[in-house]
Amino acid sequence: MSRKSRQKKQRFLLIVTSIFILLLIVMIKSISGNTKQDLDTSQSLEDNENKQTEQSKNTNDNEISEIKISPSIYTAKAGEIINTSEFEIEAMYKSGKSEKLNDSISFLSESDLVEIDNNNISVSDKALTADSAILTVKYKEYSCDVTVEIFNDFESNIDENSLVTNPSDYDVVVNKERHLSSSYVPEDLVTLDDIPKSLQNPEVNQLRKVAYDALKELFAAAKEEQSFELYARSGYRSYNTQVSLYSSYVSNHGQEAADKFSARPGQSEHQTGLAMDITCSSMNYQLDTTFGEKEEGKWVAENAHKFGFIVRYPKGKEEITGYQYEPWHLRYVGLSLAKEIYESNLTLEEYFEQ
Ligand SMILES: [Zn+2]
Repeated sequence: MSRKSRQKKQRFLLIVTSIFILLLIVMIKSISGNTKQDLDTSQSLEDNENKQTEQSKNTNDNEISEIKISPSIYTAKAGEIINTSEFEIEAMYKSGKSEKLNDSISFLSESDLVEIDNNNISVSDKALTADSAILTVKYKEYSCDVTVEIFNDFESNIDENSLVTNPSDYDVVVNKERHLSSSYVPEDLVTLDDIPKSLQNPEVNQLRKVAYDALKELFAAAKEEQSFELYARSGYRSYNTQVSLYSSYVSNHGQEAADKFSARPGQSEHQTGLAMDITCSSMNYQLDTTFGEKEEGKWVAENAHKFGFIVRYPKGKEEITGYQYEPWHLRYVGLSLAKEIYESNLTLEEYFEQ
């Protein structure tokens, strides 16, 4: 090869190499540029996302998480009118702040115990102690509940002569300080046709219908669960019957003794038609304190409340009730009050005085 052609070849190689290097530089530059752009893009995407989260967080902060009412349990008497302004209703926001609500609130209830009219909630005259009604408070799509619990205190149903003014209420309290009028006769007395009875006297074989229905269920449960045959001995007693009973006790035992085991006329629960003395064959159909130790008596003490009855004169509470222990004397007070009294271990007097 001539010197000239060798030089030509070298120049050609140099040019090719230079072009190659140049291309390489351009390529590298373009790749690194892209990467940077990619990084920039992803950074700005992330920024955007953060902004959006921030924005949605701000929106959530103004969203209500729930509404609350206080008090959440309200105690009322029969016949009371509750103004809704007695409740404080608050909106709780997701941010943690809260705000009192005054407008656009409505109250609803499915209970017969209350009637709602604009801002007033009227409690029924018939509402009995230990009854309760749920009120639902609504604001926009939010709601919460408040419970109205009925408590008819002693003072709200007695007059200045110690005469009870609610003689036909199932939660009436009749005792030595609170009596019934001589003319009071329950309107819905029924004859005890379908349960065992130990006396033939037609008057005492009566009870108010609600108490009789409950007693039938109690007797049926005693038979089904334990094969106990319970007997009704003495239910309703008129004022006049109590007059003759009490005067015969006084002439036989003296007044002081008679007052311990017998009620004076008007002071007997038997006149309410809600009380029943029960017995069984192992008691020889009599009434005495050994009934409390019999299997039947024990079962009754533990189960009567499930049917709306209480053992009215418990052991150890003689000073409070004014009567000696009478495990046989059941008093119908309704299911909810019987349950509360059973569970609290209080007498009827203590329950109302707490
Ligand atoms: Zn009795």
